[in-house]
Amino acid sequence: MPTDTATTWAPAARAVAQPRRVFVIDDDDVMLLTCRRTLEKDGYEVETFGNGLDGIRRIEQQPPELLLVDLKMPELDGLQVIERVRQVDPNVVIAVITGYATISTAVEAMKAGAYDFLPKPFTPDELRLIVNRGHERWRLATESERLRREKEEAERRFVTFVSHQLKTPVVAAKQYLDVLLYTAGDELTSRTQEWLRRAQARLDEMLTLIGDWLELARIERGGDGLGEPGVTCDLRHAITTVVEALRAQAESAVVTLETDLSAEVEHVRGDEVSVSTVVSNLVSNGIKYNRVGGRVTVRTWLEGATALIEVSDTGIGIDEASLPKLFHEFCRVKNDQTRDIPGTGLGLAICKRIITTLGGFISVASRLGAGTKFVVHIPTAATTEGLGHGAR
Ligand code: ADP
Repeated sequence: MPTDTATTWAPAARAVAQPRRVFVIDDDDVMLLTCRRTLEKDGYEVETFGNGLDGIRRIEQQPPELLLVDLKMPELDGLQVIERVRQVDPNVVIAVITGYATISTAVEAMKAGAYDFLPKPFTPDELRLIVNRGHERWRLATESERLRREKEEAERRFVTFVSHQLKTPVVAAKQYLDVLLYTAGDELTSRTQEWLRRAQARLDEMLTLIGDWLELARIERGGDGLGEPGVTCDLRHAITTVVEALRAQAESAVVTLETDLSAEVEHVRGDEVSVSTVVSNLVSNGIKYNRVGGRVTVRTWLEGATALIEVSDTGIGIDEASLPKLFHEFCRVKNDQTRDIPGTGLGLAICKRIITTLGGFISVASRLGAGTKFVVHIPTAATTEGLGHGAR
């Protein structure tokens, strides 16, 4: 059991106390000044903006904890500001200021994502009440998010610990069955032999699941120097090796495996094991989710400082609704055609983690019944920056 995964049970460090930042957006200068004076006296860091666009630009750079925004402003009004801020950072707590407080405007603002409502004119105490309440809400939301992450992290460490513990006995049980079938197979009835083979198959599935989970945990720990600067691999060599290793699987599935590798693409960022894992998962899926007589093609080309690897197949395809979930852990598309195909639902999650860590991204396009195409964008060895898209 490696100490770096299973025995580190210390809770993550507590969130560092944040400065209490408040932004105020209002086209009324007097209002801005009043808010600034009142809140700065209470120790808040205040920034004020005379229109929605300036405020949003600043929020895009560094969002505050709390935003007070006037509902009625020329150009961008309060509701439009709320909508944009929600897209930039849904955690910002928003309170609206308005001179024409009615139930319907309040409802509209709350629906758009505002948390509180401050009718004009207001006293400094009323302003303080709203801001303090908003700040408390932000603090509680942040704290509960931190606890959620800590819980998730603890659960993942537990699963990793259990996986490590299970691996050895499962391998041993499988070996006992191998020996039993090999040495005493003739003495067993064909029915018993069939049961033992089924037990072996289930243990194999379990070992694959354990292996995939441990691989994911290894990547999350940045294991074996994944993503370390300066580590590169020969992409052409990695793909050729993977394709040759999978040729037998393709032949038994009666699927043609072909490559079209550009001589321009040489070394890319990443160690060979990780890059090969990505290619192997994609090609193996292309074979698994294919049909007799189908084809899987691996193509590479260069676009500036990016190497592209396309793995396309003529297989069963994926329905549109499943595409956004495809890279989530344990996602398996369930239908009549996939029911009997073994898998863990971790392969694509592993691919995405590896590629993201290497500063690239992966995308997918598919049509049900027509085939699937995955495209991996990976920085070439010479690049120092990430590709900046995030995995999609
Ligand atoms: P699995 O171990 O189940 O293959 P993956 O994470 O590799 O897990 O893939 C997740 C799911 O995405 C698969 O269960 C399958 O339903 C679908 N999928 C992946 N690749 C393809 C493909 N090339 N064609 C059709 N479906 C695919």
